Amino acid sequence: MAAPAYPMWFWIAMATILGACFGSFSNVLVYRLPRNLSVVGPRSFCPGCKNQVSWYDNIPLLSWIILRGNCRHCGTGISPRYLVLEVAGAGCALGAFARFGVTIEGVSAALYLILLLDIAIIDWQHMIIPHTLTICGMVLGLAFSFFTPVGQVDSFLGLALGAGIILAVSYGYKLLRGVVGMGGGDVMLMAMVGAFQGLWAVPAVLFGGAVMGTIYAVTVGRGKVSGETKLPFGTFLCAAALLVLLAGDWIWTTYLTLF
Ligand SMILES: [Zn+2]
Repeated sequence: MAAPAYPMWFWIAMATILGACFGSFSNVLVYRLPRNLSVVGPRSFCPGCKNQVSWYDNIPLLSWIILRGNCRHCGTGISPRYLVLEVAGAGCALGAFARFGVTIEGVSAALYLILLLDIAIIDWQHMIIPHTLTICGMVLGLAFSFFTPVGQVDSFLGLALGAGIILAVSYGYKLLRGVVGMGGGDVMLMAMVGAFQGLWAVPAVLFGGAVMGTIYAVTVGRGKVSGETKLPFGTFLCAAALLVLLAGDWIWTTYLTLF
């Protein structure tokens, strides 16, 4: 579907605004989902003075900058992570449109990237991958596949393979080591990855996630990570999925030219 004849600045502005709004909602998700709090209510309030945050103080990007990161009523500092996630949300939307154009594929990629971002943050902080996000992702991935080059067959097979591989690895690991290596969250995450990106992305994302997790374990995590330490594997899978989505074709062709 070709984009209607609006000027490019219009699409850039739309992607920035909508992406920042999703980033703003992501702030709610990454705080409340792992704490089993409702994501629809109550409205956000200041932890300092308990005043509700008014709509005009809750405008993505602008409010935090205008208030310079302080509560309007009591001046309590508001974490910069709110602004960071709003900027990141806008970045996801702009990146998706830059890669796939103003198309349904671009919209699908934007939502997918924001989901990956939220899951990566939550898994990193809490070692949890909320099923709410991954189930939403699977449904969205399957639905979008009817309108994108991924196609519904590839999407469905990707979902099945993504879940199947992690289940098999997890089961095999349990037989070998007697402990569960990967959780149900990883199963659901890879099913979502397969639904959005199709069958062939599943092994690429798994490989990329394993490489990044290993690099982290032997560098940053050195001394802190032992054989028994759990790594937030989902975070590395999300990073790999982002890489495969935006640069997979390029990496693959570059790799082939090496031979
Ligand atoms: Zn306050």
